Amino acid sequence: MKNFSLIVVLLMCSRLGLAMGSVPVESVTPVERHGSLSVDGNRIVDKSGEAVSLAGVSLFWSNEGWGGNRFYNENTISYLKNDWDATIVRAAIGVDGDGSYLENPKENWENLKTAVDAAIENGIYVIVDWHSHHAEDYPQAAVDFFIKVASEYGEYPNLIYEIYNEPLNTASWEEDVVPYSEHVIAAIRKIDPDNLIVVGSPTWSQDVDVASKNPIIGYENIVYTLHFYAGTHKEGLRKKAEVALENGIALMVTEWGTVEASGDGAVDHESVAEWASFMKTHNLSHCVWAFNDKDEGASILVPNSDPDQESWPDVSLTESGLLVKELIREWRH
Ligand code: MG
Repeated sequence: MKNFSLIVVLLMCSRLGLAMGSVPVESVTPVERHGSLSVDGNRIVDKSGEAVSLAGVSLFWSNEGWGGNRFYNENTISYLKNDWDATIVRAAIGVDGDGSYLENPKENWENLKTAVDAAIENGIYVIVDWHSHHAEDYPQAAVDFFIKVASEYGEYPNLIYEIYNEPLNTASWEEDVVPYSEHVIAAIRKIDPDNLIVVGSPTWSQDVDVASKNPIIGYENIVYTLHFYAGTHKEGLRKKAEVALENGIALMVTEWGTVEASGDGAVDHESVAEWASFMKTHNLSHCVWAFNDKDEGASILVPNSDPDQESWPDVSLTESGLLVKELIREWRH
């Protein structure tokens, strides 16, 4: 009887708390809320068919010894989820060059695994990005890599594949990027029938208008990435994106920066505001470059930041870091 009374009192308190608005703490994760993502026309929609716009952060190149690999840890992901309200992160797996996946597959896979496992644990989406400018030169390496990714993580709604970060301006959409993409997509789809696959386009993933005139056919849930750096790219690139959307392809901004296309230079606040408005209007999901402490404008952390902290106070953030933290926190979820 005593226990019964206690339960009644507890129930009353909890109802009262709810009525007073003092209780509910957000307990549903972004992935619990939105579930499996899919493409519906030129939109990315969630499990309820509602347009979804995710906002988050890209990690830096995963290459061993480049510095950014130090931030492929659990603390980074939980900090971005809890302190920034990030709903998505991107693991930029460096493909070529010193310390890359092709040279050090074990270390780079460990980086990937740490980031993806932490994203799943935190209930946020995660892009596995084949971070290359020459991916058409070794398609079999990409096939082998994405077979491994799909086998390990294809069952999780969290996972998004990005199969080619940025083809160069010398690449051809029809001759280079489409054959490469079809090859890799076919391999993924044998294992994972449904998760989003993001495709790059020439000119560092700016030629989405070109892609939209001759898109990849025969597969569902294909998305095209649009990359921009606010200090360099302005209305002209937004026009290309509008052409692509009008032609019916779905876009996602898997990488953008507040500074110049070099990754350095001053933060362009006015241009960032214009791009943020554009992304909101079109429900574009986006990841900002980059969670790293390299001494350059696009870095979120100031130089010599400690990768083993549980969180990073605002004094550890650069001008770009402070700006994008606010932008992501205020994004609709
Ligand atoms: Mg799947």
